[in-house]
Amino acid sequence: MRMTEIKINGIVQGIGFRPFIYRLALELDLKGYVLNSSSGVEIVVDGSRDVINTFINKIRSDHPAAAIINDMSVSAKPGEGFSSFIIKESLSNKGATLMSPDLATCPDCFQELKNPGDHRYNYPFINCTNCGPRFSIIESLPYDRPATSMKTFPMCSYCKREYKDPLNRRFHAQPVACSDCGPELVIIDGNDEIIDEDPIRKTIELIKEGKIVGIKGIGGFHICCDATNTEVLQRLRKLKYRPHKPFAIMIYPPLLQNIVEIDKDGWDVLRSPVAPILILPQKKTSVISPLVAPDNPYLGIFLPYAPVHHLLLSSSLPYLIMTSGNRRDEPIASEESELKGLCDFFLTHNRPIINRSDDSIILPTKYKNVIIRRSRGYIPKPITMPLVSVPTLGAGAELKLTFALSKKDSLFLSPYLGNSGSRETREFYLDTLAKYKRWFKIEPELVACDLQPDFMTTRYAESLDLPLVKIQHHEAHVAAVMAEYQIDEPVIGIAYDGTGWGTDNAIWGGEIFVGDYHKLERYYHLNYMPLPGGDRAIKHPIRIAFAYLTAAGIDTTFLKNLQEDERILIQKQLERNFNVFNTSSLGRLFDSVSAMLGLYPEITFEAQSAMALEFLTSGILPREQKPYSFNIGESEIDIIPLIRDVAADIKNKVDQRIIASRFHRTVVDFTVEAVNNIRKSTNISKVVLSGGVMQNRLILEELIRELRKNNFTVFFPTIIPANDGSIALGQVVLANKRI
Ligand code: ZN
Ligand code: ZN
Ligand code: FE
Repeated sequence: MRMTEIKINGIVQGIGFRPFIYRLALELDLKGYVLNSSSGVEIVVDGSRDVINTFINKIRSDHPAAAIINDMSVSAKPGEGFSSFIIKESLSNKGATLMSPDLATCPDCFQELKNPGDHRYNYPFINCTNCGPRFSIIESLPYDRPATSMKTFPMCSYCKREYKDPLNRRFHAQPVACSDCGPELVIIDGNDEIIDEDPIRKTIELIKEGKIVGIKGIGGFHICCDATNTEVLQRLRKLKYRPHKPFAIMIYPPLLQNIVEIDKDGWDVLRSPVAPILILPQKKTSVISPLVAPDNPYLGIFLPYAPVHHLLLSSSLPYLIMTSGNRRDEPIASEESELKGLCDFFLTHNRPIINRSDDSIILPTKYKNVIIRRSRGYIPKPITMPLVSVPTLGAGAELKLTFALSKKDSLFLSPYLGNSGSRETREFYLDTLAKYKRWFKIEPELVACDLQPDFMTTRYAESLDLPLVKIQHHEAHVAAVMAEYQIDEPVIGIAYDGTGWGTDNAIWGGEIFVGDYHKLERYYHLNYMPLPGGDRAIKHPIRIAFAYLTAAGIDTTFLKNLQEDERILIQKQLERNFNVFNTSSLGRLFDSVSAMLGLYPEITFEAQSAMALEFLTSGILPREQKPYSFNIGESEIDIIPLIRDVAADIKNKVDQRIIASRFHRTVVDFTVEAVNNIRKSTNISKVVLSGGVMQNRLILEELIRELRKNNFTVFFPTIIPANDGSIALGQVVLANKRI
């Protein structure tokens, strides 16, 4: 007899795909089987051509929302007849399949969680084929219970019945569990002593009392406390050595509108299975402590996405700090022992977190939402490449660290791994890389890294016995955005950034390139300014301001907050040209202007002073202000006139908000003029925006608006971050074109 074999590749495991196929086969009265293989899902059916065509069309049109079909092949195959349609055991074979990201609790499970009559009423690990942990519990593929951290929890008869019923929502839901058979919550104190009380009720009580509780979640621990309690926030900031960097808060949904401005699109994003953190304007009347996001008009907020969150939040405890459970810039913790001393208590459980990931972060803009951190809910979903690659490792940079592994036209970007070159970050990096290689069956034949010699990732790439291509940081930024849009033609590529090693050993970050993947030529850059002390100065913007003013021959006596010993130190460094780097970084220009205005002389997190400058404009639109002066030369955008004008405005006591706004206007103006010049000589009108500065909403929105007004087609990063989180992607693309 002739059977039809259908092979489907994509995200088709762990999201109810086989039950969907099963129901569809029953509906069409088809006989045969479906199974998970390590390359996806395989179906064999016996039926007339017409019915099979309907079957295939319905697979394409009606599949579960979380499924992504990349590839479907249909072939004839000889075989025995079947008497029914069944779901067969998984096959392990060659080829890689894709793994589903973790999915937020679905509305059906939420209803059951809150229904006193339901078998899983108040059960903190409720899930189904439409929701629940996936990536975070998987040890190996194919995705089946024995290959997950659920393997030590044998199902009870109630769960087993649902698991085996093809018409049930939990049919083959691998993490299915209930209070009779599944993982259990427990609350322990700082000495690991179990507190023999209802863990949820006790946690709520402790948080209300002003305690800090470590909560084991999906991709790792959160450090949790009451977001309206300034006292506990003071303590938390001290413990975390984190004086200013904003914390995200999880909000009881009915009260969200009391705190932030949100539109329908915002609600959709928050309620999606990804359930990311969204950065929204805070309402003036908000009861949130000012210590949550000091000097910041925005709040990073998210909704409960795991059952335990739904059980903790209520109208009597609606606003919780839920910050990644880590020590400063280190990877997120998966065990309470890593957070000793940071938390008073731990709400934890006995299901191990196999794969860690932080919460993802999204910034809405006037044009499109842009991603700031691509992690839980997105990973390990692949990104489609604009070219066919050999198996390649993109080692990444250092801040907002990720790596990328590619094969053919698929690229797997790792979760956010940390923000430093520390030992812990390195271990997490190597561990995650080993897993990605194993799961997706990629053994790199080519490696790409940054030009910066002292990055942990550069040293790692050099240690591999593989052909190595070093990619300039800002070319990687531009290429990553080109890849997002599948562009394969010449563009004008803008990289406005903090720091990146240039081909001339200067520190770049204000670059405009022209070209394609083969060659990106640096057409314009901001003129070089002195950066005394390199990284040290980056933490002390006041020193940058002093150095820039001195280099421009401008009187510095108006500078506030410059210590006398700092002034002498920097002056000596400049005079002797000792440890002074040249930089074209736009990020440093932001720092410098910010410090000239007396904002932060010293910063405690990356981009703090640039953010302060953006917030200072507070609604004063740059386009309604006059620009400062600048000169565009052969290859340089001269910013000394701008610095001179800013200094004059400060001396003339011009409103600081106006100065900040004029500064933003000037950046937009010199960019548009430079890009217009390039179009005149090259005829290229596609413009790519990239680099960390594009996280400045004002700069991004004004650039898009003005460039479009000038008839440019503008591409900006949306599904990959503008920051260094996507450097690895750009490295892979360029290395494959240039090898
Ligand atoms: Zn569900
Ligand atoms: Zn059970
Ligand atoms: Fe960068």
